[in-house]
Amino acid sequence: MERARVAVVGGGPAGLMAAGALAERGCTVTVYDAMPSVGRKFLLAGRGGLNLTHAEPLADFLGRYGARRDTLAPRIEAFPPQALREWAHGLGVETFVGSSGRVFPQEMKAAPLLRAWLARLRAAGVRFAVRHRWLGWAEDPAQDG
Ligand SMILES: Cc1cc2nc3c(=O)[nH]c(=O)nc-3n(C[C@H](O)[C@H](O)[C@H](O)COP(=O)(O)OP(=O)(O)OC[C@H]3O[C@@H](n4cnc5c(N)ncnc54)[C@H](O)[C@@H]3O)c2cc1C
Repeated sequence: MERARVAVVGGGPAGLMAAGALAERGCTVTVYDAMPSVGRKFLLAGRGGLNLTHAEPLADFLGRYGARRDTLAPRIEAFPPQALREWAHGLGVETFVGSSGRVFPQEMKAAPLLRAWLARLRAAGVRFAVRHRWLGWAEDPAQDG
């Protein structure tokens, strides 16, 4: 059977996570990003010390989402903060819990994590098309190619 071809628009953390999940499930994935490289805001986030997640009990963590709690709970329960720490560990990035309960990469930076993440995605066959801005759907679906 032909592999599904998927275009992910935006190479920030959300797009990269989606690309990884799709590639794991056998899709042929291309990540398109308008900028010359992906993950730029993520790198910026790392400048002041990248706060990855929080180590508080899950019920308290879910409570942070206020009115959206019930909508988001199944998604967060499927990939809770501890799973995020294990994911980072799998990329060779150790994490620690700060005095506030916030979780940081050992080096506090985003760059090593992003490098390892992109290497894993490339190894899984994900392709990147930077300087490609999505402008909306074509009126003729055939042109969306
Ligand atoms: C100074 C700063 C510090 C931060 N610190 C933290 C922190 O410590 N911890 C934390 O969790 N978060 C932090 N954040 C927030 C974090 O960076 C964002 O939540 C995260 O980057 C959002 O990811 P995203 O994938 O949703 O969007 P983005 O990272 O914004 O990625 C979207 C991508 O889509 C691309 N794009 C947009 N429109 C198009 C288009 N039409 N066609 C093609 N490509 C397009 C953009 O170029 C971009 O690469 C911080 C942010 C800033 C600015």
